[in-house]
Amino acid sequence: MKFNSVIIGGGLAGLVAGISLQKEGLSTAIISTGQNALHFFSGSFESLREPAPRIAELFSEAGIGIHYSEGVRLMPLGTFREAALSLDDVSIFPTSHFARKALIVGVTGYQDFFGSFLAEGLEKKGIQCRLRNFSLPELDTFRQSAGEMRSVQIAPILDRVWESAVREIRVLLKDEDAVILPQIFGFQDISVPGKIRREIPAKVVFAGTMPPSVPGIRTQRLLKRRYETLGGTYLAGDEALSAHVHKGTVHSIVTKNLDSHYLEADNFILASGGFFSKGMKSNPFQILEPVFGLDVEFASDRNDWYDPDFMKDQPYMGYGVRTDSSLRAIAGGEMMENLFAVGSILGGTRPELGSGAGLAIRSALAAVDEILKTGKR
Ligand SMILES: Cc1cc2nc3c(=O)[nH]c(=O)nc-3n(C[C@H](O)[C@H](O)[C@H](O)COP(=O)(O)OP(=O)(O)OC[C@H]3O[C@@H](n4cnc5c(N)ncnc54)[C@H](O)[C@@H]3O)c2cc1C
Repeated sequence: MKFNSVIIGGGLAGLVAGISLQKEGLSTAIISTGQNALHFFSGSFESLREPAPRIAELFSEAGIGIHYSEGVRLMPLGTFREAALSLDDVSIFPTSHFARKALIVGVTGYQDFFGSFLAEGLEKKGIQCRLRNFSLPELDTFRQSAGEMRSVQIAPILDRVWESAVREIRVLLKDEDAVILPQIFGFQDISVPGKIRREIPAKVVFAGTMPPSVPGIRTQRLLKRRYETLGGTYLAGDEALSAHVHKGTVHSIVTKNLDSHYLEADNFILASGGFFSKGMKSNPFQILEPVFGLDVEFASDRNDWYDPDFMKDQPYMGYGVRTDSSLRAIAGGEMMENLFAVGSILGGTRPELGSGAGLAIRSALAAVDEILKTGKR
């Protein structure tokens, strides 16, 4: 099987690259073995401060609502964090004192939303809180087993019965000027959070829950659907194992499921994520990139990989594969002509590309531009 580009990893970086190349009429395949960081996504795109038209267009064409406004957002445990470009579900406030009184409403039996932590954090900011739950008969079967009361199980039901949920919440509401709900609405029907906001006579804030993230999985699903609509081949559940490389040029990829049917391409994009997604692995002596054996930047003394103070930024989070300025990967000190590394495999932050989701999107677009420059179609 021969493609213009083969992309390893179907998270945010891999999908942004795949969509952008397909839009240019180039044939691509994405191989993706497992979960990705979007399944844990807060809804805010770190380090993306400008609403760049190219990014806005890409998300809008995939049916993903994003908005830009600088301020702070409420975190799952009642703290606040700076935010700018975010999914439409996420409320951004100029300051953390966004209300006088808040009603925090959970769902009976759903344990991944920590109302009492939220209340503690908000009260520190001078926002008086009251906690309540609502309970809908449609969720009773899930409630019989705690393991089934998870966000992705109940979210599709809530999308159908959101009007009943709103009726319950309106009964609970007294003189509060804000209602805080778990971010588990709009899994399949993206219009639901907006409808809830319109029907509740108070400021409605959707606060993050423990994973899996409903808005994150929805974002992944919509990006994947957009990619496939554009004709991209998404090989879910397959894993790139190794590559055939000759004189700095990658010719094909060996995958777990395709056996001896190698994936050939003119270009390859490594978007396999950081340690979290096994894009990088470690043993007691070194940090490795397992598919191509690329050069990885890391401290030679293992004791320097981490800070014993658990709460501090950890050095290993910044480790990533080495590239040149065009994001061409480096192996054994030599630049690989047609292999680009993008997303969190680049390490925590790059001054010119940012960090987090900003790094994933910007580096994917930069690699696409490099591929387009080569003129190989
Ligand atoms: C838990 C967590 C939460 C985060 N939350 C946020 C947030 O809210 N906002 C933000 O801005 N940033 C966040 N980040 C930073 C995050 O890294 C980026 O936002 C971004 O989503 C990373 O995308 P990626 O495509 O580079 O990697 P990933 O999302 O990690 O995707 C890599 C994919 O490659 C696959 N893969 C790995 N090896 C192979 C292989 N050999 N063959 C085939 N497939 C392979 C993996 O299974 C995975 O699906 C978070 C990171 C983590 C770890």
